[in-house]
Amino acid sequence: MQVYRHAVRHAWMMLLAVVVAFLLIAVVDQYYGHSTLAFAAAIALLIGANARILQFTCPKCGKNLFFRGLFVVPWPNKVCGKCKTDLSSEPHL
Ligand SMILES: [Zn+2]
Repeated sequence: MQVYRHAVRHAWMMLLAVVVAFLLIAVVDQYYGHSTLAFAAAIALLIGANARILQFTCPKCGKNLFFRGLFVVPWPNKVCGKCKTDLSSEPHL
């Protein structure tokens, strides 16, 4: 599958992870009161879910799809920002 489609799926998974993390904090807050542990668990979940972000790189130049210059954005580039490869039509990976 193309790296862009992998990256888009990862972006959706991250969105889901953020929703789950917020729900976790909200539910724990509702039933057990304010909990630092719930925050820690939510942050660990987000970091764990986002660890794969480094795998989504341009097959030609190795630039990460989620990086725009110095910034990290939640949605991947369809066209590589460095070498202009159309990542949505790349047949391998
Ligand atoms: Zn590239």
